[in-house]
Order: sequence, then C-alpha cells, then structure tokens
Amino acid sequence: MLLFTPGPTPVPEFVRVAMAGETIHHRTPEFEAIFAETRALLFKLMATDEVIMLATSGTGAMEAAVINLCHDTLLTVNAGKFGERFGKIAVASGLNNVEIKHEWDTPATVEEVVAAVKANPSIDAVAIQISESAGGLRHPVEAIAEAVKAINPEIMIIADGITAVGVERIDVSNIDCLLAGSQKALMLPPGLAILGLSNAAVAKVGKGKGYYLNLASEIKKQSQNTTAYTAATTLIIGLGAVLKHIDEGDGFGKLFCDTARRAKACRAALEALGLHSYPETPARSMTTIDDADASEIRKILKEDFSVNVAGGQDHLKGKIFRINQMGLIEPYAITAVVNAVELALAKMGRRDFDGTASRVFNETYYKTMLEKSKENCNDI
Ligand SMILES: *Cc1c(COP(=O)(O)O)cnc(C)c1O
Repeated sequence: MLLFTPGPTPVPEFVRVAMAGETIHHRTPEFEAIFAETRALLFKLMATDEVIMLATSGTGAMEAAVINLCHDTLLTVNAGKFGERFGKIAVASGLNNVEIKHEWDTPATVEEVVAAVKANPSIDAVAIQISESAGGLRHPVEAIAEAVKAINPEIMIIADGITAVGVERIDVSNIDCLLAGSQKALMLPPGLAILGLSNAAVAKVGKGKGYYLNLASEIKKQSQNTTAYTAATTLIIGLGAVLKHIDEGDGFGKLFCDTARRAKACRAALEALGLHSYPETPARSMTTIDDADASEIRKILKEDFSVNVAGGQDHLKGKIFRINQMGLIEPYAITAVVNAVELALAKMGRRDFDGTASRVFNETYYKTMLEKSKENCNDI
C-alpha cells in the first residue's frame, strides 16, 4: 500500500532501523549526547532562538503554546479544523478568544487580522496555521506576523507549522513560537512535538503556566540536554536520524525544493485531468482536490491501485481528497499516484486513459529541476 495521507506519513526504513535498538534510560550520559545532537540539528531546522521537544501529539504543543504565551485574549483564524482547535484550546484554558472565520479554501488576509488586533486591544497573542491541513490551505503567516508586530511587538505570534516545518523554509523573523509534529513532515511515528521559541517568547513564558505543558520547566531542563519528565527517547532517536540524514545528505534546501516541485507537478497533473484544486492558496504539504466523486475516487485508488489518500472532515467529508507531499518522497512514487487517479477516472467513465497525468507530472517536475531556482525554491 502506498501511504499518501498528509499525516501520518511513511517512516523511512533507515529511521525505523535507527529506532529499533534497545530502550535506553533517559537519565544517562548516552541519552544526553543523543538529545544534544538532535537539539543542535533542530536549531538548524527551526532557525529559532530556543527549541523544545515535548512527548505529546501536535495538539499538546498547540496547548503548551497557547497557555504559556497568551494571558488574556487569543486571536485565531478558523479556516479549518486546526484553526478551530486553537480557539477551543483558548476557551478550555479560560482565555478569551476572538475568531476570524473562513470557508476552508480561503486564506486569512493581513487586513482583517490587523483590523481585529486594532479593534481588540486585549489580544496578546495570535495563533494561526501556516498550512491548514483541513483543506490544504496556505495562510500568509509571515506577512500577518510582520503586520501585527508593527502594531504591537508585544503580541505573541504562534505559528502552527505542523504541516509546514520540513516542507519549506519558514521565515521566523516575526514568529515567536513555531510548532512542528513528528508524524507529518518529519516522517516519524506520532507522539513527539517541537516548539521553536523566540527570545521574546522565552521572556513571556516567565515561570510558565500549567504543569506537564509548562514551558519554563522544559526550557530550563532542555538547555541542559535533559527533559523535565521522561523523554520520548525512541522518537528523539528517530528525529535525530531523520535530521542527520537530511543535513549530512543533500541538505534541507534540497528537501524543500523537491517538495515544492512535487507539489507543483502533482497539482498540474491533476488539473490536466480536469480536476479542481480546492484551496485558493495551496500549501506545499498536500494537494487537495474537491470533487463530487471524491469518495468513489478514494475507494478505487485504495482497492484497485493500493494507494491510500485522505478524505475530508466535517462538511468536506466525501467532497475532497488530499494527497501528501511531505517527506522524502521519490518522484516516481507520486507519478504512480497521479497515474492511478487517471485510471480511476477512466474506470468511472469520466475520461479516456491516455497517460496525461504522468506526462504532465514529469514535464512539470523535471522542467522546474532544469530551471535555475533560488535556494529553498520559494519561487516555485
Ligand atoms: C495534524 C495537525 C495538528 C494536530 O496534531 P495531532 O498530532 O493530531 O495532535 C495540528 N495542526 C496541524 C496543521 C496539523 O496538520
């Protein structure tokens, strides 16, 4: 089965092998050395002033960020399940929530965020997804962060990069907290989350809030290469292996370029079949197609071609399908996926099979490879 869901993503064999050793105790010099090495690599990936690993799924990191960095009112952008979740976390934590709501294909605008911040002086943090995985939508987080900081630099910017860190280089100049999660772009099993913090965020954390998710206790411990509670040793070993493989191999820039090319070529291939890309501003983490036959297409992909892609949730259930682009994926694997989509459409009698999808994928992918591109391929 080809696993092409945008989380969990397939775990490469070299990572599974790295995690197959005996369990080691977390309070030992051996593990501290592994922790230190992984932490150093994380600084390269996140490019933030501080980095924290937590044994929790991504939502735990969202909660840790909200409770430690917002003390009054959190502004959230609900253009999908994950943006909605930030608002729910705020309310559950006794904080006020101002929510900007959009259909799941529509990105937030700088203007509306600026207007909301100006209208609500009690807002002390903004939480937004870089890539909103519910509809595969890219929010203009960097521009929003810059505009908010221009109004009031004290306002904390929490950027959920769970399907963006490892996909593209994120400009963290105006971001105070950048979140990542193990089972998406980092190609690991679920259970580990990462927070990159600015110095301003570390200052605002102060003594911290909460108990297990208290960032003050973790900042103190992790700067000494240990954790406040039992570390997710196996996952940290796996994370170290992933990051080392990329860093000592072709580098993060190559990973970002390959991902950008794959996302662009996959979308072009599916559009050439007459399919429609759902989000107004597609994220590079996944390709999202809205189609009345989405359920039927997914079923044929799985049963006839052993390709597992994700569907939609809530009001988009049965209306979209999402193809993962995150991780170290060979171009031939995604060629097989777009080809299977074309075969599914042929089987349903929607179009004749003529190999359009794989031809357009290859043309687009390899043309962008031959063209000169800036580092990290932000221009693709
Ligand atoms: C998956 C995801 C999360 C939540 O992560 P869990 O690991 O399921 O708790 C948060 N934000 C985004 C954008 C995600 O894709």
